[in-house]
This record gives sequence, C-alpha cells and structure tokens, in this order.
Amino acid sequence: MGFLADSIGRIKPSPTIAITGLAKELKAQGKDIIGLSAGEPDFDTPENIKEAAIAAIRRGESKYTIVDGIPELKQAIVGKFKRENGLDYKTSQVSVGTGGKQILYNALMVTLNPGDEVIIPAPYWVSYPDIVLLAGAKPVPVQTTLESGFKMKPEDLERAITPRTKWLIFNSPSNPSGAAYSRAELKALTDVLVKHPHVWILSDDMYEHLVYDDFEFTTPAQVEPNLYDRTLTMNGMSKAYCMTGWRLGYGAGPEKLIKAMATLQSQSTSNPTSITQWAGVEALNGPQDFITKHNKVFKERRDLVVSMLNQSKGLSCPKPEGAFYVYPSCKGTIGKTAPSGKKIETDEDFVKELLSAEGVAVVHGTAFGTAPAFRISYATATKDLEEACSRIQRFCGSLR
Ligand code: PLP
Repeated sequence: MGFLADSIGRIKPSPTIAITGLAKELKAQGKDIIGLSAGEPDFDTPENIKEAAIAAIRRGESKYTIVDGIPELKQAIVGKFKRENGLDYKTSQVSVGTGGKQILYNALMVTLNPGDEVIIPAPYWVSYPDIVLLAGAKPVPVQTTLESGFKMKPEDLERAITPRTKWLIFNSPSNPSGAAYSRAELKALTDVLVKHPHVWILSDDMYEHLVYDDFEFTTPAQVEPNLYDRTLTMNGMSKAYCMTGWRLGYGAGPEKLIKAMATLQSQSTSNPTSITQWAGVEALNGPQDFITKHNKVFKERRDLVVSMLNQSKGLSCPKPEGAFYVYPSCKGTIGKTAPSGKKIETDEDFVKELLSAEGVAVVHGTAFGTAPAFRISYATATKDLEEACSRIQRFCGSLR
C-alpha cells in the first residue's frame, strides 16, 4: 500500500505546466521568449473594482462570511442572470466559490459516483476530465472537428449518452478553441437533452462576455427552459473582469444541488475571500463599458492571429467566435523535419521545436484532447503577438 491515495494517482498536474516551465527556464537563460500559453487577460482589473475592495478592507470586512457567499453578492448574481440571460433564480439557488473552478469541482464531487459518466466535448478545458477522474467517475470525450469549427453535433451527443450519463459539460465560448454555439446550434443540442431526463447540464459560461462580430451569447437553461431544473449555470470574474488572481466564481441551479455544494465547501475552503466578494459586487453592479473596450482589442488580435497563422505553411486555423484563444491544426507539419534535425511526429514535438527554434511558447493540442493542433492565447500585447506569428511563419517555412 502506497502512502498516497489512489485518487491522486488518477490525475496529473495541468499539462500546460510543462511547456510554461520550459519557457521560463529558457527565459532565465537569457533567451528571447514570447509566451502565448497563459489563459488570462493581459489587462489590469478595472479601477472601480479595486476601489471597492480597498473600501471593504477599510470598513473591516475581514471576518468569515456565509460559506457560499454574502447576501449582497448573491443578490448581484441573481440580478446578473436576470439582466443578461433572462434567467430567474432565487438567492438560495446561488453558490459562490473560490473561482469558477471550485464551483465545477464542488458540483462534480457532490454528484458523481464510481461508474457515472460525464460527456465532455473535445477539445476541452484540461481540468474537466481530471476532476471527473478524481471523483471516481468516467470522462466520455466527444470528438469535434476543425471542419465543424470544433462544435459538437447533436447526433454525436445523442450517441454518447448512456444510462450511466450524469452530466454534459458544455463550454461556449470554449477554452481552448474559442468556438461558441449560436442559439440555433445550441437549441439542436438541447433538443437532444430534453429526450434524456437523467442527464444534467453543467454550463461553463466563463467566456460569456468575450464574443466578437455581434455574436449573441446564449446559455442552455435560457434556450430550453425545460432544462432549467437540471442545469447548473456557472460563471466567474476571472476572464471578463480581469480578476484571475482574485479567485471568484459562481453558479446557479436547483436548491438541492446548491445546498450539497455548500456542505462540501463548508468542510474544505469555507467562504471565498471576504474582500474579493465585495469587489465582485461592484464588478457585477458597476459599469460594464470596459468589456466593450477590451473586446475591440481582442477582436483585432484574433483577426491578426488567424490571418497570420493561415499564411503559415502546414497550419490551418478556423476563426473562432469568442474567448481569447485560437486552435490551429498543425496536421500539415507532421512527418516533416525541424531545423534541429528532429522529426515532427506529434503536436507536442511541434510545440517543443517551435519553442527551441523560435522562442514561442504555445500549448500542444493533445493536452486538450484534440490533436494534432495547438492553442494560442492572444491575451498578449499586440506587438508581441505579431512578432510571435512571424516567428511561427518562419518556423513552419523552415520545416523540410
Ligand atoms: N472554465 C474554463 C473554461 C476556464 O478556461 C477557466 C480558467 O481558465 C475556468 C473555468 C476557471 O476559472 P477560475 O477558476 O479562474 O474562475
């Protein structure tokens, strides 16, 4: 019998750590590295949100709070769901956690039993399958294709559902592909779900506000009200409000689920930081105009990156609707030889060679379940992005 629990043996550290670690090492050696692997906005937290946190500190908001959120924040979340998504929730249906990640973690931990299955469209955010595995359940990836813009087809969803299916994890706009489902595309999926009342929907709306070209964001419980009683709609402050380090996320759904999540949280982390919660109240109730300003920059960067990648030999990159990621296929480079003499056999080889030859750090697609591809985060200064894409073009051109 080993010292460590079996459960920890089922999961791995976030696979993005390896490449980020290597990039840091090279930088420390004095190499000129451009990192495009981080999943966070390069913008700072808006001033009004920072001020709200400072005021909370000065008021002495420094005590334990209710485990799953202060009433003021829950009320702000209820207001947000009504205003932006047309969804009616009571504060008793709202849970606040230390990041969206804790909401997902709590929800999966309090519902999954060994043998349960969770459908996860691929490419997926790296934490979904690992949290499912930690709970002793089985991740069921549904592969999507570049041709479909990395969106799951209703018939593929239908085929993946079994009597053991407990959840579908739905993430639009997606990390890592940036793909977002239109209302019609989403309705086609919810039509399938309506026929299978035992399947719950965990909608990860983390990138809701990061959509471009007048794209209309919708979420499952809004598009199909019949799913409301078995949907957890999850969101957070990290991406749209540039608050990754503050750690604040939330979800809304049926009371029995929310209560169980609070019980788990009460025996683990307790409340999210009191100061952060007050900042969250201001984020949701305060002015939202910076989102439009940021999105203008993100859209320009997306267009630049997609265009430059599609001019790179052997790469093909769909133009995604949202988030701050693109997910180009590097199929056309497989089998070629890098300047180092190394043959590129996988997308992991591609990203390692790209890093050592040109100093550009990206994350290989295998980590997200769809290969051969890689993820670029364009939440980086535009001039660095332009330089990184030129280097990618040069690298692809140098493959023989
Ligand atoms: N969901 C998706 C799709 C993400 O990309 C992330 C962060 O990268 C999260 C959830 C969790 O974000 P946080 O825990 O910072 O709220």
